[in-house]
Amino acid sequence: METSCTSSNQKFPPFVIPIFIVHQGCPHQCLFCNQRSITGASEGMVTAQAVQETIRTQLAWPRRNPSAPVQVAFYGGSFTGLDLERQRELLGAVQPFLASGQVREIRLSTRPDYVTPEIALFLREHGVGIVELGAQSLDDRVLSASGRGHTAAQVKAAVACLKEEGIQVGLQLMLGLPGDSPATALASGRRAAELCPDMVRLYPCLVVSGSPLAELHHQGQYQPLTLNRAVALAGRLWLIFKAHNIPVVRMGLQPSDSLEKTVLAGPYHPAFGELVLSRLFFNQVRAKLSSRLFHLPHRLTLAKADESIYRGRGNANVKRLVALGLLEGVETVFSASQARQTVQLAAVAF
Ligand code: SF4
Repeated sequence: METSCTSSNQKFPPFVIPIFIVHQGCPHQCLFCNQRSITGASEGMVTAQAVQETIRTQLAWPRRNPSAPVQVAFYGGSFTGLDLERQRELLGAVQPFLASGQVREIRLSTRPDYVTPEIALFLREHGVGIVELGAQSLDDRVLSASGRGHTAAQVKAAVACLKEEGIQVGLQLMLGLPGDSPATALASGRRAAELCPDMVRLYPCLVVSGSPLAELHHQGQYQPLTLNRAVALAGRLWLIFKAHNIPVVRMGLQPSDSLEKTVLAGPYHPAFGELVLSRLFFNQVRAKLSSRLFHLPHRLTLAKADESIYRGRGNANVKRLVALGLLEGVETVFSASQARQTVQLAAVAF
């Protein structure tokens, strides 16, 4: 039976103040990782003073939505792999802002095997409200082939420890890792959904220069997913998480100049998430249009806000629907009152 998870969606998306702690605390070398390329940041020790300056500067900026809760996010590396004093120093730098109410909570990313009940308690006591776990897969063979150095059971245990302390959990999953296949990726997605994380991020595996994967790719021992396959697979995973009421908050890496310079191969696209959502929307509209009585004229109503995602890049979705003959006798209306991601099709009088 499918689990339906309780969504912990906040009313307003948070205002996130990012702080990058590049490769600090991580003795691992996952095959796909060249952390500097992925975060777009350079090596350097982030001091408590620098953390506070960043927070002050960003709090002073005008915000589109002043009611949005403020989060300080430590990204990159594996936060709980830092020695305890260093964790205290960084988390301590945020405490005055938590105490004054200017910052609602701290979020950070780490590895599943760096979370224990004691660590989860320590994080909760220091105002950490969200932990993003770099799970990448819940298939032990894929994890091993990717050099992750942890198991699926450790992901499960880490999620349980964090939830026990009332900390929200984000799971990051990667598609197209060494040893992965659509079947293992989907099975992994289903296992991840059963853990009821509060959010998920999906990243296609890219070959970035300086990573061990670049060498394997160069030797012909690793082939990344094509963009088309990665989009299709991410769409299927998105549907799995949607069925469990789990928000997928990001698909594809944040585009940056440094990332673009270092991607050697793989399904990189600066608007990867949009491609996935657009593909899903196309499938939804196609199914609806295919089910109609073709001898009657129809009106297709979509949300105004969904127009660009419906059309797809370069109007590709509409061109495909036309080529399939599905838009014949159909008037398309974009309505401000239609709920997003819903499709309404009705026969209209002659
Ligand atoms: S992906 Fe994370 S755990 Fe793996 S090498 Fe990079 S920083 Fe370390």
